[in-house]
Amino acid sequence: MSKNHEEIWASCLKVIKDNVTLQAFKTWFEPITPVKVDEGVLTIQVPSHFFYEWLEENYITLLKKVVKKELGTEGRLEYSIVMENNSTNSTPYTVKLPALNKKALKNEPVTMPLNVGEKQIHNPFIIPGLKKVNVDSNLNPAYAFENFVEGDCNRLARASGYAVANKPGGTAFNPLLIYGGVGLGKTHLAHAIGISIKNQFPNKTVLYVGSEKFAHQFIDAIRNQTTNDFIHFYQMIDVLIIDDVQFFSGKEKTQDVFFHIFNHLHQNGKQIILTSDKPPVEMQGMEQRLLSRFKWGLSADLSAPDLETRMAILEKKMYGNGIELPKDVVEYLAYSINTNVREMEGALNTLLAQASLNKKAITLELAKQMVDKFVKNTAREVSIEYIQKVVCDYFDLPLEILKSKTRKREVVQARQISMFFSKKMTKSSLANIGAHCGGKDHATVLHACRTVMNLSETDKQFRAYLEDLEKKLTIQ
Ligand code: ADP
Ligand code: MG
Repeated sequence: MSKNHEEIWASCLKVIKDNVTLQAFKTWFEPITPVKVDEGVLTIQVPSHFFYEWLEENYITLLKKVVKKELGTEGRLEYSIVMENNSTNSTPYTVKLPALNKKALKNEPVTMPLNVGEKQIHNPFIIPGLKKVNVDSNLNPAYAFENFVEGDCNRLARASGYAVANKPGGTAFNPLLIYGGVGLGKTHLAHAIGISIKNQFPNKTVLYVGSEKFAHQFIDAIRNQTTNDFIHFYQMIDVLIIDDVQFFSGKEKTQDVFFHIFNHLHQNGKQIILTSDKPPVEMQGMEQRLLSRFKWGLSADLSAPDLETRMAILEKKMYGNGIELPKDVVEYLAYSINTNVREMEGALNTLLAQASLNKKAITLELAKQMVDKFVKNTAREVSIEYIQKVVCDYFDLPLEILKSKTRKREVVQARQISMFFSKKMTKSSLANIGAHCGGKDHATVLHACRTVMNLSETDKQFRAYLEDLEKKLTIQ
């Protein structure tokens, strides 16, 4: 008599095989099982909701053609989706979906929850024929380009990010790898690129995800036997931003899955943006094939901002909050927190909170207390730059003169005092202190320290200066 469902599906597959790539055939058609044929309706079983969506979106014309060829012009196709994660439930949960019936198709998008660990398919009434899967991009609007202050420390990274944002996937910067130490703006810049792309190309699917979250999702996917869904989900992203990829170090399986996703996206002209706390050459525990791919595009570093940029960042943050601080307070923050923008910002926020809660005026004194409480270990010590500034203010000398080669008596004295306090209050080496004070060598610094000690023992006025200055410099 007529063919059974398996024979029908086998004939369909033959045609399909000639019309799709081998990879697509393996990925999307081999996992399908024919279930039955009944009154001109062929039912096929697919492993997930996502799978079904993908078929409907990408292969509906082909499927329609082959089914009609086998079953006649009235022939129809039904999907049966089996939830594979419910191992405690002995009967597989199956839903039937009418397909190939264009009139019944609605164009409502379905949200694809990011948490692939939980089964997404709670609602059996899946909307067929969806055109687009909506993905929440996870972008923080506060981290836009407008709020990212440009400086020498970030010029290349910012400019390349900007280029990528204007032409995602269409520049040589793919992947774009932004690297730099903690709190220097990697996450901010990565979001800025995503936000700008979303604004300019609303139809592009942009996704920001921390590498830790990615790794956890993957582990959940393995546990729930939904790794296919996981991979397919990531493979349909247009702009994938993965923050802190150094977290993948030593995680072989995660690197492996990421490698495949990376390749798929890259081959299809999709943009990949990565951040890391180190350049690729220094990433340990990372597979070579992945590292070499990181180097395909552009690696741009973020370094610690200079004083000017730090001041500009603080001003921007204050402006954003509609607040003004006394100049000496802003300077103090910018001078004393010089390695981490996040800590500087944290100190500013704590200061503002303290001031408004306790209705205290924001004074230099309060700022010193805050910085002391807020900023961790290393930054607790005052910086050489700050010492120089306080000393110069005290003696009413411009900072440049202190850093110059001038041998004028007052300048020499101020310079020696700066060196003395730098030695006393920071962990800097004599050579480093010398370098900050007009390029002097370590012997000069040592000599300066001795001179200051001797003078303070013999000269009362001089000792008073030192005590005054020490009070100004001490962070209490
Ligand atoms: P990272 O990811 O490198 O550790 P973040 O991107 O989280 O650092 O930045 C820490 C904080 O510093 C954020 O609040 C960010 O807005 C701010 N920041 C860093 N660099 C800049 C900059 N150039 N302009 C404005 N804010 C910045
Ligand atoms: Mg970060």
